[in-house]
Amino acid sequence: MRGSVCGLLPAEDIQALVDALRARGHAVIAPVVDGGVLALAEVANADAIAAGWTAEQTPGRYRLTRRADSLRFATGPTALPWKRFLHPPETLLFRARRDGDDFAVTETPPAPRPQALLGLLPCDLAAVARLDEAMAGDALYQARRQATLLVAVTCAEAAATCFCTSLGTGPAVAGPCDLALSELPGRGLLVEARSAAGEAIAAALPLTAAEDRDFADRDAIAARTAAAQTRRLPADVAGVLRRAVEHPRWQAVADRCLTCGNCTSQCPTCFCSTVEDATSLDGATAERRRVWDGCFSLDFSYVVGGPVRQSAAARYRHWITHKLSTWHDQFGTSGCVGCGRCIAWCPVGIDITEEAAILAAAEEREAAP
Ligand code: SF4
Ligand code: SF4
Repeated sequence: MRGSVCGLLPAEDIQALVDALRARGHAVIAPVVDGGVLALAEVANADAIAAGWTAEQTPGRYRLTRRADSLRFATGPTALPWKRFLHPPETLLFRARRDGDDFAVTETPPAPRPQALLGLLPCDLAAVARLDEAMAGDALYQARRQATLLVAVTCAEAAATCFCTSLGTGPAVAGPCDLALSELPGRGLLVEARSAAGEAIAAALPLTAAEDRDFADRDAIAARTAAAQTRRLPADVAGVLRRAVEHPRWQAVADRCLTCGNCTSQCPTCFCSTVEDATSLDGATAERRRVWDGCFSLDFSYVVGGPVRQSAAARYRHWITHKLSTWHDQFGTSGCVGCGRCIAWCPVGIDITEEAAILAAAEEREAAP
């Protein structure tokens, strides 16, 4: 696939891209180094974007290490998922003031600020597409999404926890976005416009003509990244999980799982939330907020009489089964994009690919004559 407008941007001119996005009123959000991890933050200066770093990730472990080169986007998945800029961890829904026996709403969410997400990996881009579907009826999400430009990059570095090739979500930029970038060592950024908004941005950049070898190098980078991946999901993982409802393995996972919810916070496609109300002590004002929630909190499945998923085994089973199986029933695709964040950020190193493989192998053993 090639964009409608393509060209090469010299590496030293990346500020022109940041400027072009900002000139159109977009806050530019990009990976930065903060607190020893690859975080995400608004940048005005391209020098603030993390360059020359890679995040080594293994089960329960995340360490930033220096690269031998100064590539900006060869980092592997960021520590924070990008979803927080489309579906923030906490959103004020309204504030209200008592008005006699009635009340008056004094504050509602402001119109979202236009933003450009610069440096989405293909798995991150696929996650945005999953959220677009899951939150199609959510006005707050849709308002933010419509105010957002997506600038994706060809993934040049697979972490040991990555498995996007299993899910067809990377390492090439295949999903809808505004701009697709590929960092070609020694030659700069291959810029491809993939939307009308992307064309307008590309037109403002000092691009030189892209050649066939640039696209060949882009594809070679993606192929190398794919070849470096060692984790994968078993075939028919959706069916395996559907048939494993009563499997003893759930208890073995529960013996390790802390039900901390890190995996749901880090997952770029987990979208569940709850609503919290707070009233001032004198009862004069009140506010309602939406905050992230997830499968591992007891309150999440609270219905009349108590939570329906009280055990850790039931909660982990629900999480992995929704990701890899019942999401297909709901949305016709997997709820996992293979970013590996849940593996790296699980404090006890529980690995979604390992658990799926154990269940698949057990099924195979049981089916053997
Ligand atoms: S389930 Fe894990 S690997 Fe899959 S998208 Fe979520 S965090 Fe990434
Ligand atoms: S699987 Fe890991 S990250 Fe998820 S709730 Fe359990 S201990 Fe926490």
